[in-house]
Amino acid sequence: MQGPVVCVNTEPLWKFDYGPAHPLKMWRLKLTQELQRLYGLLEQATIVEPRPATEEEVLVFHDPDYLTALAELDDGVWKPNAVRYGLGTPDCPVMVGVYTASMLIAGASAQAAELVANRQASIAFNMAGGLHHAMPSYAWGFCYINDPVVAIHKLLQQFNRIAYIDIDAHHGDGVQVAFYGDPRVLTISLHENGRYLFPGTGFEHEMGEGEGRGFALNIPFLPNAGDDVYLRVLDEIVAPALEAFQPKAIVTQLGADALHDDPITHWNLTTFSYLRAVQLFKELKVPWVALGGGGYNIANVCRAWTLVLAEMLGNPVPDHVPDEWRKIAQPYGVLLYRLRDAQPTSSPPSVRADIDRVIQWLKEHHPLLSNRSNLGG
Ligand SMILES: [Zn+2]
Repeated sequence: MQGPVVCVNTEPLWKFDYGPAHPLKMWRLKLTQELQRLYGLLEQATIVEPRPATEEEVLVFHDPDYLTALAELDDGVWKPNAVRYGLGTPDCPVMVGVYTASMLIAGASAQAAELVANRQASIAFNMAGGLHHAMPSYAWGFCYINDPVVAIHKLLQQFNRIAYIDIDAHHGDGVQVAFYGDPRVLTISLHENGRYLFPGTGFEHEMGEGEGRGFALNIPFLPNAGDDVYLRVLDEIVAPALEAFQPKAIVTQLGADALHDDPITHWNLTTFSYLRAVQLFKELKVPWVALGGGGYNIANVCRAWTLVLAEMLGNPVPDHVPDEWRKIAQPYGVLLYRLRDAQPTSSPPSVRADIDRVIQWLKEHHPLLSNRSNLGG
């Protein structure tokens, strides 16, 4: 891999606000970026300013009438037309600058894809991105414009085999929908079982359709899953699938909401799982667009994405959080003293038994993993 690690500056996004009761906090980006700066990581990366997406870039996935409706709500004033597009709900509120912010996030992810495609970066990280739920004609799950899909389309102009790997606690449903019939894009999602968590999809039997059959891979985990089952899935399912597919570029969604003590999910992962996943992506040694995603325990977001950036740069950072950061985070009520968790976690027997079943099923039935491979082309 050639080129530096590039980070998109998230500061232009800090001012947008989903509202005080909404769990997605834009200031998570501010606190994380400040922590990365205090560790000296931003000096080792190349920082670029985000640019807005063009309409053409987002219309590869979104419907023109949805985009028009979203643009009309940029003043933050609700209009009756919003309802049919899933806008103005508790999850996807109509906030001031909703269109401006969404287009800026999507543009930043498109830009990240351009940088790795042109070999100007080995890895490009847009922490503000990863809004994986947005659907073609409606807003969904805190997401208005699907920036991972925009980034993947950009990479498809240069590469014919792209893997999208999503480690957010929630199923990457919008990205799966975009490429369900497309053999050029393998979508892999590790998430909490849809019977227990939004968006209710992502079961192991969802494997793609038509020419895209075998190019969607879903691994659902029961609530309270710990590092033991997660590390097994990385080794036994994710790594072999990537080995079989041989991607020429990757897009990863690194949502931090699968770490323990997230207020809206039910996982028990530590930084052991999170860092192992990131190491696996790095070891592929292909152009890499890294995106953020969910994360509602803000201390977890800050430490996860700081550790991720350190890993990308190949520069381990000390565990002890710099004292100066505490002053920055205190007004937000965020406490954090150490970056890494001390020990890996294990799962209850019922969770282990269920993941045994899922692994076995996938090894027998998934075209990328089963010996009797029936992949076309
Ligand atoms: Zn999530």
